[in-house]
Amino acid sequence: MPDLDELPFIDREVFGKEETSIYRKLFPEPFATFHCSEGCPYHCSFCQPAREDLIRSQGPEQVPRNLVEELVKCRAEDGILSYLIHDDCLLWNMEWIEEFIRLLERRKIGLPFAIQSRADLICRHPDAIRALASVGLRMILVGFESGSQRILDLIQKGTTVEQNLTAARICQRPRGRPVGQLHVRDPGEEKEDVVKTVEMVRTIKPEVCSPAFFTPYPGSFLGDDCHKRHLSLIKDKEGFRRNPYRGKIKGIDYRYLRRRFVSQKGKIAGAPI
Ligand code: SF4
Repeated sequence: MPDLDELPFIDREVFGKEETSIYRKLFPEPFATFHCSEGCPYHCSFCQPAREDLIRSQGPEQVPRNLVEELVKCRAEDGILSYLIHDDCLLWNMEWIEEFIRLLERRKIGLPFAIQSRADLICRHPDAIRALASVGLRMILVGFESGSQRILDLIQKGTTVEQNLTAARICQRPRGRPVGQLHVRDPGEEKEDVVKTVEMVRTIKPEVCSPAFFTPYPGSFLGDDCHKRHLSLIKDKEGFRRNPYRGKIKGIDYRYLRRRFVSQKGKIAGAPI
């Protein structure tokens, strides 16, 4: 296991070009992505088993300090104006979050930023969302996945539809806005489940709706099961992109799904769908 604090900062020049903002309306360029932990202790079957332990420095001061130092460096050297912290479970440890907020205030970094989170963690920590909004949080990418409890249980998400709705309300209360990350057409999903997801999105009205067709990633419980049953339609690396355009598994009416989730011009439809 690497000691994440010992790793050098990313050499961003190897990419040869500046990052594109995830959403220019809220996050001006230059934009940068940061990542300061690895792994996830949850058990969603379309994703796990990856690295199930969350690896992050244990002391509350360690990784926030590294992250904040990297932010300071990118602001000074690249002039970044906004950023995304792309960790899967940033809200896992509240001590860490408190220290992060304290360091952002001390270093006077008030740039707008986005994070990712599960809905249940947002419900558990509404005060943390409010505090993060005071230091620049403007958007949370939430893996709502489905508006059908049957499907949330089937994919072992460990969340409820009610938590999805509550989390969206919490995000809208401060200045943060939710981004609906949906996961449609898992094996076993029926049209009624899809309709429930569309209804949930209409209620949530996320700033951006980002639907993805279930993709059978090798190594994940659900992906391996699909490969074992010869259900995968994926022929090349491109097919593994989590977009809602190409068919991923057999037996799915993808035309119906595109009509429900994707606009006529092939762009992802914004909410309300
Ligand atoms: S989908 Fe997200 S919460 Fe679920 S196991 Fe993967 S990283 Fe963790």
